[in-house]
Amino acid sequence: MQGNFSLHHDVFSRLGIDSIPIKVQSDLDLIDGLVIPGGESTTMSLLINTFRLREPIINFGKDHPVMGTCAGLILMAKEVQDKRVQSFGFLDISVERNAYGRQIKSSTEKVLYHFGLNKKVELKTTLIRAPKISNVGEGIHILGEFDGSPVAVLSGHYLGLSFHPELNNIDIFHQVLFDPNCEYYYKNLKQTYAA
Ligand code: GLN
Repeated sequence: MQGNFSLHHDVFSRLGIDSIPIKVQSDLDLIDGLVIPGGESTTMSLLINTFRLREPIINFGKDHPVMGTCAGLILMAKEVQDKRVQSFGFLDISVERNAYGRQIKSSTEKVLYHFGLNKKVELKTTLIRAPKISNVGEGIHILGEFDGSPVAVLSGHYLGLSFHPELNNIDIFHQVLFDPNCEYYYKNLKQTYAA
């Protein structure tokens, strides 16, 4: 409904995975997984309520993979310091909006990510008025950190990123959550984390 969704469609098309925009409740019946993109979390929160998508998305998320980037991560958090955002609570984390500074302080950093035990990869990490993950609860696996805070967290079938992988043509996070043929698919990683 809002935000940077179109580049996520490009990632899916590179991966050979069909994707559609989600605007009304019945759209959720057509998909196997959801991306909540970057954008403006207060606006998204309002639109989600206006279009009566809150309960349907919470129910969808119970048994389908959901990935949130930036504003999407804010919407997935259990605790958001800004009460204008009504989040879904999928990830047991606390987030502070805009905690890396203003738009002009947006930056692209290099961060080392861990996908299970076997794969470490340094990736461009573009933070745009990004949320900071200030606290993580149990069952949250940190895939990467920048400046002392997690920027990528995985918990079961939920993946939250403070940054925008789609801006740097990074596909691996979408593969982790949505590509069962990928070695780093979350169900395969789960065994690694459990071990
Ligand atoms: N600052 C935005 C928010 O709080 C997030 C920015 C983004 O998604 N790039 O919702």
